[in-house]
Amino acid sequence: STPAAVLSAISAGGRQGVLFKGGEHIETAGNVDAIAFDKTGTLTEGNTRLTDVRAREGALSTDGGAVSSNLLADSALEDNSLADDRLLSIAAAVQTRSEHHLAEATVEAAKEQGLEVPDASDFEAVVGKGVHATVKGQTIHIGNPRYVETVLGDQPIDGRETGLDAVRELEANGKTSVLVVGETADGLRVLGWLAFTDTIRPDAAEMIEKLRERGVEQIVMLTGDNERVAQYIGEELGIDEVYAELLPEEKVNHIERLQERHEAVAMVGDGVNDAPALATADISVGMGGAGTDVALETANIVLMSDKLDRLPYAFALSKETRRTLY
Ligand code: ADP
Ligand code: MG
Repeated sequence: STPAAVLSAISAGGRQGVLFKGGEHIETAGNVDAIAFDKTGTLTEGNTRLTDVRAREGALSTDGGAVSSNLLADSALEDNSLADDRLLSIAAAVQTRSEHHLAEATVEAAKEQGLEVPDASDFEAVVGKGVHATVKGQTIHIGNPRYVETVLGDQPIDGRETGLDAVRELEANGKTSVLVVGETADGLRVLGWLAFTDTIRPDAAEMIEKLRERGVEQIVMLTGDNERVAQYIGEELGIDEVYAELLPEEKVNHIERLQERHEAVAMVGDGVNDAPALATADISVGMGGAGTDVALETANIVLMSDKLDRLPYAFALSKETRRTLY
């Protein structure tokens, strides 16, 4: 039967907004000496906002005209802001079908601008890379440089280097960025690019410090986001190791590698593309305020609020409880 100390820890946790889904998790959590964090929605607020919309000069028409699909034309523009609006409305059309945080931010921005968003069909997502759909008869791709390399491959893309350079520069400034590429009768063409930022949670740095004080040896970040943005946030928070541009199964590999060197490994995530890593970790922690339903259902520990100090509390409580058991 469950020891009294464990039962009392479960109820103490409950009062502090920490839900242990069983006594065995308290015992394992008391042993955690390495923690992996997802970035987006976990260390950051997950309130991603669109900050930059840039149509590539001459890549879009503003005349609403007759060129193949009425999305694209060859005419260069005097005033690029109309083209920027058009780019945003095309991007929002595709992203209406996606639940990704970048997609939500794109649709939100188009709404705020009062833009008309056309319908999209044949939507498809490529995990960790981007999305594509048909808008007014035209295939539109939205994705990161890896999407361009692996999904669009070796096909010639008009404006490829201009677009990739722009994205790299935005990333160096800590902004997650994607290219918008359209398929025209003449082939692929970079239409423009979009950039996004997210806010680091105000209590994240203090939480990391407390975890370290409480004996966690190794703190890492596992993210699908790009290297430059991830490094920036890792440095702000004093995280030991940052692994970026990861696919869900690559996050799993990192958890397994940590498990070889540590007694017990915890993973903290929101369940968007990190469900397999959460399942692999010895202890999975879901954030009640932010996580997906699946993450909350399968998590071993759920933090009922967005207060990150609940996490060092949960590990300290578990450690204390273990001490009284053995
Ligand atoms: P994270 O949760 O860290 O953002 P993801 O694996 O969800 O990690 O996404 C990784 C990257 O894949 C994103 O930064 C973006 O470049 C690209 N991506 C994923 N989904 C979309 C989407 N709907 N639209 C555009 N890009 C996307
Ligand atoms: Mg995430």
